[in-house]
Amino acid sequence: MAIDLRSDTVTRPSQGMRDAIASAAVGDDVYGDDPTVNSLEERVAAMFGMEAGLFSPTGSLANQLLIRTLVKPGEELLTEERAHIVRAELGAGAVFSGITTRTWHSERGLLNADAPLALAHENAGPYLVSTTAIAIENTHNFGGGTVQPISEIARLSTEARQRGISMHLDGARIWNAHVASGVAFNEFGKHFDTISVCLSKGLGAPVGSISLGSKATIAECRIWRKRYGGGMRQIGLLAAAGHYALDHNIERMTDDHARAKKMAVALAAHDSTLIDPTTVETNIVGLELSQTGITAADFAARCKEKGLWISALGKSYARLVTHLDFDDAQCDEAIAIMLDVLG
Ligand SMILES: *Cc1c(COP(=O)(O)O)cnc(C)c1O
Repeated sequence: MAIDLRSDTVTRPSQGMRDAIASAAVGDDVYGDDPTVNSLEERVAAMFGMEAGLFSPTGSLANQLLIRTLVKPGEELLTEERAHIVRAELGAGAVFSGITTRTWHSERGLLNADAPLALAHENAGPYLVSTTAIAIENTHNFGGGTVQPISEIARLSTEARQRGISMHLDGARIWNAHVASGVAFNEFGKHFDTISVCLSKGLGAPVGSISLGSKATIAECRIWRKRYGGGMRQIGLLAAAGHYALDHNIERMTDDHARAKKMAVALAAHDSTLIDPTTVETNIVGLELSQTGITAADFAARCKEKGLWISALGKSYARLVTHLDFDDAQCDEAIAIMLDVLG
């Protein structure tokens, strides 16, 4: 079978997870009657020290429901230029919520609080756009799995909130950030008004994200989720997978991180222009192929012929993401295939 490192979304539910799904207690969640969804929403909210949570089918929807509660039409959300919210949600904030955005640049997506603080313009008056929220991505996906320093998050949050600007966390891979940095989940919760987390990335559940915020925010998100057509019925089946993932699949991410590092070290030993292995902190390995004379698309195609699937995300940028269906033997095989293709 092919080794699939295109994303950590490609995992399949384990037998234990399937058993948990099969035996889940369920009810109609649009009526608020599904006990497994309710307990999952409460559980994740409590982990992060937030008041309430809401299950949603995707991380994009979880982000979009939250940012529309923070930013009114014509107001502004600031984020880093390669953030998922501005690069990979197909303009949803503009299309559905009338939200405008400006972005700052950073190396590897790594947060320096000075950049958004310099860009922000709160209460800008009748002629200029007012900044009402700042979104931070942790870990930063297109930055290469970058872990944001909690000291910079705290500095940004303190100053932004003093200026009346809300803080949103796109925490699709906050689990990886926690495992890599040791920062507690409720420490992240202190610095943000709203948080989205994904169950279907490194945690290995088939479907699902949770939006977190105050009770009032989540009540508003519940209305908009239904309005968008995302009110679902007996989804305790999906929530049971989420509970199982939280019980079993967080601490094991250290293995994913170690395998990502091992690939980065092996590739850098072959050609140091491909990647600096010290920047690989979590489960994402971003390869810069511009010095190799081969495009990312060609590299991905030639790896695929040999049984290794990776993503070509730019002309010369390829991405590998480790996950719970990728083991040590496959790691060695993946390294051998890539070194072979690179010659
Ligand atoms: C995957 C991801 C999301 C959500 O993606 P969906 O495919 O909509 O579930 C949000 N933010 C980041 C950083 C992601 O990597």
